[in-house]
Amino acid sequence: MFSHVLRSLMRSLSSVFSPVAAGIFAAGSIGVFLAFVLFLGRIDKGSNPNYFIIALIALMFWAWAFGFMARCGVLRRHLPVLALPAAFIAMEMINFPFCTKLQFYCRIYHYVFYGLILLGVDFVIAQCLPKNRLGTLLNRAELLLVGFLYWILSLIVVNVFLNGSGIDNDAMIAISQTDATEGSYYFFHENHGLALLLIGAAIALAIGGIVYCLWRLRPPALEGKRRLAVTGILLPVLPLLLLGIVSNQFAYFMPLTWKTLMVSQDYRMQKKRYAEKRIAYMEYVKRELDKEQKDTGSDGLFAVVIGESASRRYMQCYGYHLPTTPFQQSLLEQPGMFLFRDAYACHVQTVKVLSLMLTNRNQYDGQKLGLTNLVSVIDLLAHYGYRTAWLSNQNMYTQDSWTTPLVETADVRVSLKDYGKRKSKTFYDLDLLKEADKLTPAKREVVFVHLWGNHLPYQSTYPPDFQAPAEFSAYDKSMLYNDYVLKELFDFFSKRNLKMMMYIPDHADGVSVGKGHDPRPQGYVHEMVEIPFWVYLAPDYAAAHPELVAKLKTAEQRVITNDLIFNLLLGIMKIDNRFTESRYSPLSDDYLLTRDNALTLWRRRHVFNDTGEIGKEGE
Ligand SMILES: [Zn+2]
Repeated sequence: MFSHVLRSLMRSLSSVFSPVAAGIFAAGSIGVFLAFVLFLGRIDKGSNPNYFIIALIALMFWAWAFGFMARCGVLRRHLPVLALPAAFIAMEMINFPFCTKLQFYCRIYHYVFYGLILLGVDFVIAQCLPKNRLGTLLNRAELLLVGFLYWILSLIVVNVFLNGSGIDNDAMIAISQTDATEGSYYFFHENHGLALLLIGAAIALAIGGIVYCLWRLRPPALEGKRRLAVTGILLPVLPLLLLGIVSNQFAYFMPLTWKTLMVSQDYRMQKKRYAEKRIAYMEYVKRELDKEQKDTGSDGLFAVVIGESASRRYMQCYGYHLPTTPFQQSLLEQPGMFLFRDAYACHVQTVKVLSLMLTNRNQYDGQKLGLTNLVSVIDLLAHYGYRTAWLSNQNMYTQDSWTTPLVETADVRVSLKDYGKRKSKTFYDLDLLKEADKLTPAKREVVFVHLWGNHLPYQSTYPPDFQAPAEFSAYDKSMLYNDYVLKELFDFFSKRNLKMMMYIPDHADGVSVGKGHDPRPQGYVHEMVEIPFWVYLAPDYAAAHPELVAKLKTAEQRVITNDLIFNLLLGIMKIDNRFTESRYSPLSDDYLLTRDNALTLWRRRHVFNDTGEIGKEGE
């Protein structure tokens, strides 16, 4: 029965479908697509075969829709919608200069998917509706919408050519942070606002002309069988949707333009939440600190380098086959070096990791996780007379917004990303060295360095002229650059009064499966929590504290999740505090963590013997 219906449907469709036109269109678009893949291959050596195939399938479906338009003789009326996906993909290539092959493939999928739906609507409105008032009104409204979409994307492209940089996350944050006066100043004096307005008006006129012609063009409604073509056009929507769900397209990827448009909304929400939590937090901290004694801890410089998206699977010092970490490899020969081979991330989102890593709260103390009733390591260190510095190559007011209240009390705060977005300048991690150099040495000081590290897109983490062996992938190369940054920081701090340096990333990435970091059940893979972690003691500090050396030797064999770094750091610095119990410190004999009870994703999963989600996040 079903196959009979399907067969007769296919027969009817074949009378309104041109396989030759579809074939030519498919061949042409696949040719252009392959040329772009080759072009992107110059900087991105990854392959992502699954997503490559998905992009190909999307292109074939697009050609399939073209076949109907061609056969029905209505190509001219639908050309604007047919070209819309290509126009958006081209615009994103220009507006977001770093593009990986993976992003390119996903972009094609998304724009073809939404384009197909729009094309179906376009066809129904123009060809199937009666020519009454409602039909005419809908036809005009839809043409205006398409015209508006073209207008917006032309403006974005013009803006890139006028100002040399696109509308990205940072630009959106800058827009959300500004008020009307300051905004109009920046717009007119620093962003060629007048030129943009004039060109925008000219483009609007041109698009308006085309829209008017298309109104006039409206052919008589298609009759009988030819109206069936819309069924054919919309036929691939369901399989394409299923393909997107199965391949996690909707969970992982969203066209960058939409993502960027949502940034300012997100920013306002986070700011509000932060302001609400801050008052209660500061009162609690003051009360608790007043009970602490002050004369404890060691003198000297302690450096905590917080990495980003670093996976130990790609580090030579953890057994990777390529020489991605020559400096850290050489550190292994130093007696004061402790390499933790069983370190894991407590979450895969930066803000959630840092809110535990930098405070006395952890996944094992049974307390609710969040920014209340906890003490930040920076406030604690200030209490013991340490000068603290937070040098960051990440945004402090976007993804890091939860981190902001924790680090805002640091004596020195630098956010290169926030600065860079005002100056339209790209900073790399090595630029943090200049900031470190500006610090005047203090008797007791702790320097936190928050790297951009190995964050996606990987080729944006190192300067364009950074050299690496030809067989290195973008991720390998970012690891090599990260190693170089660590070496430079190490050399710099060593010339000062360095007692201890540690390197601890927030989380890793699912590099080998072509994923970033995603806590959702359909996205999470174990690789995302497999982080490197090491502690280095300067020779004089190690000599002065042989018992600490012995304890670290034991500790490096133990399982650790990075929410316990707070306890380890204070232990290494010889700070006795009442904020946490000794069993949370890997230096202590009653340390609680083993392979059986190690948790991640804020208690949602076991690190080992992971059988899926075991509870609600943070509760
Ligand atoms: Zn992160």
